[in-house]
Amino acid sequence: MALLQISEPGQSTAPHQHRLAAGIDLGTTNSLVATVRSGIADTLPDADGYHLLPSIVHYADEPLVGYAAQKLANSDPLNTIASVKRLMGRGLADIKTTGTRLPYDFVETDAMPMINTAAGKLSPVQISADILQNLKQRAEKSLDGDLTGVVITVPAYFDDAQRQATKDAATLAGLKVLRLLNEPTAAAVAYGLDKNAEGIHAIYDLGGGTFDISILRLQKGVFEVMATAGDSALGGDDFDRLIAEWIMQQAGIAEDAEHQHIRQLLEIARTAKETLSTEDSALLNVKFIGWQGELNQQQFKQLIDPLIQKTIMPCRRALRDAGLTVGDINDVVMVGGSTRMPRVREKVSDFFKCEPHVDIDPDKVVAIGAAIQADILAGNKPDDEMLLLDVTPLSLGIETMGGLVEKIIPRNTTIPVAKAQEFTTFKDGQTAMAVHVVQGERELVTDCRSLARFELRGIPAMVAGSTRIVVTYQVDADGLLSVSATETITGIHSEITVKPSYGLEDQEIERMLKDSLEHAKDDVATRTLREQQVEADRVINALRAALKIDGDRLLKQDEFLTINTALDQLLKLKDGTNAQAIKRSIEKLDEVTKEFAARRMDASISKAMKGHTVNEFMEN
Ligand code: AMP
Repeated sequence: MALLQISEPGQSTAPHQHRLAAGIDLGTTNSLVATVRSGIADTLPDADGYHLLPSIVHYADEPLVGYAAQKLANSDPLNTIASVKRLMGRGLADIKTTGTRLPYDFVETDAMPMINTAAGKLSPVQISADILQNLKQRAEKSLDGDLTGVVITVPAYFDDAQRQATKDAATLAGLKVLRLLNEPTAAAVAYGLDKNAEGIHAIYDLGGGTFDISILRLQKGVFEVMATAGDSALGGDDFDRLIAEWIMQQAGIAEDAEHQHIRQLLEIARTAKETLSTEDSALLNVKFIGWQGELNQQQFKQLIDPLIQKTIMPCRRALRDAGLTVGDINDVVMVGGSTRMPRVREKVSDFFKCEPHVDIDPDKVVAIGAAIQADILAGNKPDDEMLLLDVTPLSLGIETMGGLVEKIIPRNTTIPVAKAQEFTTFKDGQTAMAVHVVQGERELVTDCRSLARFELRGIPAMVAGSTRIVVTYQVDADGLLSVSATETITGIHSEITVKPSYGLEDQEIERMLKDSLEHAKDDVATRTLREQQVEADRVINALRAALKIDGDRLLKQDEFLTINTALDQLLKLKDGTNAQAIKRSIEKLDEVTKEFAARRMDASISKAMKGHTVNEFMEN
């Protein structure tokens, strides 16, 4: 049925002026597309009335996406690709080590993983693009026009590489990305939590295969992800397995039952689980052995409580990481099909001591939030409508001498943002500078994540410390980073946009934040030591250069000896671990070379003045 848009004259934009925009939840198992029509956000169904699109693509002549592909998963597993989201922005080596067991024929390469299919070698980006294209077609057919732009949701813990891969997939699908939005933020928007002035919200997302908890803080219209935690291998499927095992025990089915029978048992278990969300008991009918039974609420609760408890532990951890207690949480939002289980709601409510938001379909809530955001970004709302902003999840910094990190954009900075910092050369005559862009909270480069490296060449050869190089870090609305370096005298310039640097585990951000807290004290000590070591190197280099030029001319034998003794002392100490001793040794060297430095200064002034009068200089 075609939808008619009715609006009061002058109160709403005419249909032809309304820019078509959509929100896309690109999920691991299922994807959805939603849009705002006549002020109401909802997901769009396909021609058969299904809103969910299984994130599965089958490759033969033409890519088949969704339910059609799902049907071919058993008969043609190598050409039927599911869960491709787990591969986005990852290297093959990481996929092999992160326990993501995917039964595909991977092409052996060190870079982006590629899968051999009947349609050729395909990257996760290309496969995701096929899913996105399917949703694009669905939206454009249903809205009867071209989409001007979309908002695509990504997990809060996605790093730059994973976000860039998602954007690349959208571009490949012919979609203009208005912005990427964190999934928990989208869920909060769907419930209108962004309309409040401020608040702290927990987004509890229990899907088919994964569990995520995010703690968001809304402050002055900005959602900040304060903490995320979860379990990438815990979801509704585990509940199904548990029930299937229980049925096997009850019905006396051997553990080594045929694969096909196990499949059927899992189906029975899943149906029973979903039935128990609304009924008191569920009938179990195991046809292949002619067994019938029943699962009641009490038995069900006993079975699943330990699994639900497993989701509460990450909730505790997230609260602790955010430095909060349960009492600080204003709202809890439920996301994911498994939050339909009343027992899950009950336990979550018990833990957070508040009733969670459950009114919006937990499968659709993320896509709906994305659609609301897309509608605003496409310009369909009055100007005063609040625009949601995001923040950087981890600090972005630059490597400085001694393998130390100088943070340029601290974590939790509202984006988009641009920040510049001045740097200088370390050695006399230095004509190139290496820029190493890193991400993380730790003080040492080796403890942070390397994002990119580039060089600025052609710096005019000058004395150390006299050139000025401005390094600018710019993060766009999607969290993608461009770094540029400019030498201020010549204007020579070099820049890089951080392209996918593959290889970060799902829980990496969480781990990095935790590590930085745990090592804060050690890190400060290490930083102090490294700074002293760098300063020692600088002083030693400068002194050696000066001694080479003027030592014989300006120093007496005993003075030379005193300086050399102090220099030797510093050389001995500088590779040790006593920062204070290095500092004192630098000060000592400074003291014994003061006179030498003064004589050099005098000598260079008289050299410069040779043949001139003092007055000439005064006039200038
Ligand atoms: P999602 O990945 O968010 O689509 O969630 C899928 C999971 O939600 C599957 O494990 C489903 O069995 C589960 N699920 C869907 N509907 C219900 C329901 N009514 N009761 C319990 N679990 C459900």
